[in-house]
Amino acid sequence: MNSHRPEFIADTMLQGLGKWLRFIGFSTVIADNFKMARLLLLANPSLIFITSSSDHLRELGEFTAFMVRKNSIAEQLQEIDNHFHIFQRLNLFTICSLCNIPAQPISREEIRDRIPEAVKNNFEDFWICPGCQRIYWQGGHIQRLLEKMQRMGIPIQ
Ligand SMILES: [Zn+2]
Repeated sequence: MNSHRPEFIADTMLQGLGKWLRFIGFSTVIADNFKMARLLLLANPSLIFITSSSDHLRELGEFTAFMVRKNSIAEQLQEIDNHFHIFQRLNLFTICSLCNIPAQPISREEIRDRIPEAVKNNFEDFWICPGCQRIYWQGGHIQRLLEKMQRMGIPIQ
């Protein structure tokens, strides 16, 4: 099932959009520059290149590339959904938004020294990013992101 999830490369000017694709569960490499985007696509042609530049779209025409035309991230996600149906396959907060690596469940005992007491007492489920070792839980920041997703029109339930 996971093998059919679209995986993306976001063009340099779409870093914010790239982070949001990660928040909702889609692996998204964020290209530092156009040259890097080309190299990554050569190495992994199944990735979908997302850009807002018609020049970049044209130059990478041999790969799967998609151009967003709207300015806001909410509208850009909608455009991507119209084309790739990502909203049917949301997998919220499963990918580290910094590293683009799937976060792994971890027991509270294993991270007891690394989280505040109040968090330890109030939450059961924790995840850790194997890349940056950041610890995630369903705390207030997640609640704020969920509310933001609703305002952006992402169908979260
Ligand atoms: Zn990470």
